[in-house]
Amino acid sequence: MIELRNLSKTYTERGREHTALEGIDLTIDDGDIFGIIGMSGAGKSTLVRCINLLERPTSGTVIIDGVDVTAFSGAQLSGLRADIGMVFQDFNLFSQRTVLENVTFPLDIRGDTREGREARGRELLDLVGLSDKASSYPAQLSGGQQQRVSIARALANHPRVILCDEATSALDSMTTNSVLKLLRQINRDLGVTIVVITHEIGVVEKICNKVAVLDGSRIVEHGATSAVLTAPEHEVTKRLLGAVRWDA
Ligand code: ADP
Ligand code: MG
Repeated sequence: MIELRNLSKTYTERGREHTALEGIDLTIDDGDIFGIIGMSGAGKSTLVRCINLLERPTSGTVIIDGVDVTAFSGAQLSGLRADIGMVFQDFNLFSQRTVLENVTFPLDIRGDTREGREARGRELLDLVGLSDKASSYPAQLSGGQQQRVSIARALANHPRVILCDEATSALDSMTTNSVLKLLRQINRDLGVTIVVITHEIGVVEKICNKVAVLDGSRIVEHGATSAVLTAPEHEVTKRLLGAVRWDA
């Protein structure tokens, strides 16, 4: 379980303070596919980066399985991050490495044997439907295939949680659907908890069991997806649903 308690993040840029997150309280249960939705600039990426402490909260706590990880440093932090996979909008693959080498990269760092890495890499490529692309390079793959490689890489260390920051935002709608199906399969079959950051309500509708709506650095609405989408209360949720005209 991931708990964020009264989390805030303020950036200071050229002497000016900018609040990206304020008073965030959030509980993500094991097995959830938890959506965090909001418009551009709402604070979504900052929030997801606070979960694995790529970003240090200014105040508040991140509690994972009952342990306050906010004070973690060094080896503890590396251990935490190994347990949390991450997937980005722009895939973040190494162009000079093959697909298999990209997937096994986290195991390289961990110091696994070559045989162990390859076996795990091939198993993961099989899982994401890219067994035949092991020796290809990222540039030779479509966007959807590249995102599958990135998902396979995020799974390499057997994480319990995967954070997806706009993972389908660069993909067309059919490819988006197939990537979302893969994420749902990973959640169901491997029991991996998935946090989905998006600005697209359709993504939440398709795979998230719970959702939190972020607007102006705060969570303005949250709950079971079905409840929030059928009876949205906040203006921004209605806008994201298309129930309110954008220029109204
Ligand atoms: P979202 O992902 O919802 O688009 P972000 O979390 O990226 O939003 O950004 C939230 C706010 O914090 C924005 O106003 C953004 O400009 C600001 N911000 C994000 N990262 C930084 C940073 N490293 N330094 C200064 N301001 C930042
Ligand atoms: Mg973002």
